[in-house]
Amino acid sequence: TTTQATSQTAQSEALFARARAVTPGGVNSPVRAFKSVGGTPRFIREAHGAYLTDADGTRYIDYIGSWGPMILGHNHPAVREAVADALQFGTSFGAPGEREVELAELVTRLTGTDKVRFTSSGTEATMSALRLARGFTGRKLIVKFRGNYHGHADGLLVEAGSGLMTNLDGALGESAPSSAGVPEEYAALTLVSEYNDPAALDTLMAERGAEVAAVIFEPVVGNAGVLIPTPEFLAALHRVQGMGALLIADEVMTGFRLSLNGATGLLGLKPDLTCWGKIIGGGLPVGAYGGRGDVMDFVSPQGPVYQAGTLSGNPLAMAAGLATLRTLEADAGIYGRLESYTSQLADGLKTLAAGAGVAISVNQIGSMLTPFFQGAPHGSVRDYAQAARSDTQGFGRWFQGLLSRGIYWAPSQFESIFVSASHTGAELDATLEAARAAFADLNQT
Ligand code: PMP
Repeated sequence: TTTQATSQTAQSEALFARARAVTPGGVNSPVRAFKSVGGTPRFIREAHGAYLTDADGTRYIDYIGSWGPMILGHNHPAVREAVADALQFGTSFGAPGEREVELAELVTRLTGTDKVRFTSSGTEATMSALRLARGFTGRKLIVKFRGNYHGHADGLLVEAGSGLMTNLDGALGESAPSSAGVPEEYAALTLVSEYNDPAALDTLMAERGAEVAAVIFEPVVGNAGVLIPTPEFLAALHRVQGMGALLIADEVMTGFRLSLNGATGLLGLKPDLTCWGKIIGGGLPVGAYGGRGDVMDFVSPQGPVYQAGTLSGNPLAMAAGLATLRTLEADAGIYGRLESYTSQLADGLKTLAAGAGVAISVNQIGSMLTPFFQGAPHGSVRDYAQAARSDTQGFGRWFQGLLSRGIYWAPSQFESIFVSASHTGAELDATLEAARAAFADLNQT
């Protein structure tokens, strides 16, 4: 059987204690600390296909996939071989190389963009795209949506979604920073609107539109749990382009995940700029931003907007990204199989929760899924306020029920899970069996 019960976390506990002594909270990215669900974060020793193995030797079916990059599954042979091949020739040149050209050609072709610039993280991509939008338009303000996360640049840590929904207490006001250390003056340059509320965006743009450099958004939200945009909201987003503001699709999560051209391709979006991360680097540190040639030509050294990176275009990272995207492109059935697995998982969870008398509301699109622990009809959770009505304690207990049965689910109610192409029927059956038991646990007090 693929699942196994575990009460053995001695090695992870010991590592967590050592980590806490030398690293804030013991982790290098907050959500990894299991703060909202409690318990010991598992320290991972290795990962293959759909599975993780922790420091105590326990195996888990993984639904995080490194928070998105591992769409092919962990340690995929094509990616491993491409990185091993690149490794023979040196790890960083600080000078241009052929792989950067190849990946840029591939990305622009798949996404219908003119030009792309590589960074080393999604945060750098969104931060740079906003600077570019301000440089191109000569305007100062940006608009973002409550519960959307775009990385941790100062001006974007405003009403910023999952990690902050999970780890910070207290109500957040209009344009209030969601982190200490962000000056109100920075936050004041970021206007916040409601996701899936076209009238709110129209009103905001009617009042301030002439000052707005860019509207940045998650085309499918992963960072408040999965939220799917309505056609009316997408139409309102496109209206901002008529007012001289650039439309920036943050596809760091959805790029190459929902289709070869991300949510943009799936939903018929026409952004001016797009940001990528995660899958574009195949599990190595890569981000990118790209789009219209006339806008991208404002980037240094061609144009006046400065942006740089010592390790940008790193040959190992480019090799991993190239192998991942080429594998995705070569396998015509891959997105259909991901959708099929994930919709079966969604249907299974709905049926099992109903059978156990547990209220959940499932949002699912392609290989992204969130079960919100609340009684709203399936598919009806559309914005941050509705997502926040979930029973996070119930979710936390269900999460622990899954984890103890060998299923590594995202450790927060306000995250998407990510299914990989390595997940097969065997993993689906084992997951639903564990989910059945975890729902039953909720009825035992
Ligand atoms: N944008 C979105 C939509 C994201 O989901 C993330 C990370 N989860 C980021 C930006 C930031 O990317 P990174 O963590 O690579 O800096």
